[in-house]
Amino acid sequence: ANLDEEDAPESLIARAPIVTIMGHVDHGKTSLLDFIRKTNVIAGEAGGITQHIGAYDVALEDGRKITFLDTPGHEAFTAMRARGAQVTDIVIIVIAADDSVMPQTREAINHAQAAGVPIIFAFNKMDRPGANADKIREQLSGMNILVEEWGGKYQTQEISAKQGMNIDLLLEKVLLEAELLELKANPNKRAVGTVIEAALDKGRGIVTTILVQAGTLKVGDPILAGCYSGRVKALTNSRGQRIDKAGPSIPVQVLGMQGAPTAGDKFNSLESEVEAREIANKRLQLQREQGLRTQKH
Ligand code: GDP
Repeated sequence: ANLDEEDAPESLIARAPIVTIMGHVDHGKTSLLDFIRKTNVIAGEAGGITQHIGAYDVALEDGRKITFLDTPGHEAFTAMRARGAQVTDIVIIVIAADDSVMPQTREAINHAQAAGVPIIFAFNKMDRPGANADKIREQLSGMNILVEEWGGKYQTQEISAKQGMNIDLLLEKVLLEAELLELKANPNKRAVGTVIEAALDKGRGIVTTILVQAGTLKVGDPILAGCYSGRVKALTNSRGQRIDKAGPSIPVQVLGMQGAPTAGDKFNSLESEVEAREIANKRLQLQREQGLRTQKH
């Protein structure tokens, strides 16, 4: 099977944007993620058990969808990039408006710019008496980052993650940015994606969270990720519900991998389990040989 086959333009359909939230510690990343997750459960799925799987998808009232990588902090983003995985379409950088642009804010900006991923700034904690968004705009312009309201290209939104203020407007801006990116994927082929996290669960075996980026992953599919293969025994969405397939931009928990791959590993569904196992074994062997070589030096 050709893993990198080109898709015909007519086979591509719109997919949800994949968003990572970054920013300085305590500026409100977790609060923002929690609020969005709590208030945007897909209609009819309310009450579904929410569990941490490293990523989740939400649907707004009008049906438009956004997928969030639930890994605040820059390490996950950087670790994935180091493995060549470009998963994020849009970065939201949270800056507490009662504080300042901080070292980790700069770091987040640098990472997003290096990856060529568009940034939206969320000026948070606007409910606080000391909040001053203009001061933050000023500091950003000092770094050559000109916000839209001052004639620049960067969208911003003043919010309060704690009070849930203007989060709807922030999500609108995410979807506007996504429209400009014209994000598309072919859902009608074998799944291709990236490993978000993997762990050994006592009762269930290896549990791997996959972000499907193209194609559709189905129960029963032979799979390959990093040095491991397997067959999909069960799929669970980020609301803890059993599903039988997952299309582009959907994060899923997969049961059935024979070993735990690493976050950032590429993921493929193949025609045959034998083929998947052969490729996995070759990679494992290659890794061992490289390991031996580096030990000798
Ligand atoms: P993180 O480290 O960036 O994930 O920040 P957290 O989400 O954990 O928030 C750090 C602290 O700021 C917590 O005590 C939050 O309750 C508080 N916080 C977050 N957002 C807001 C906000 O919009 N307004 C106020 N007043 N406090 C906030």
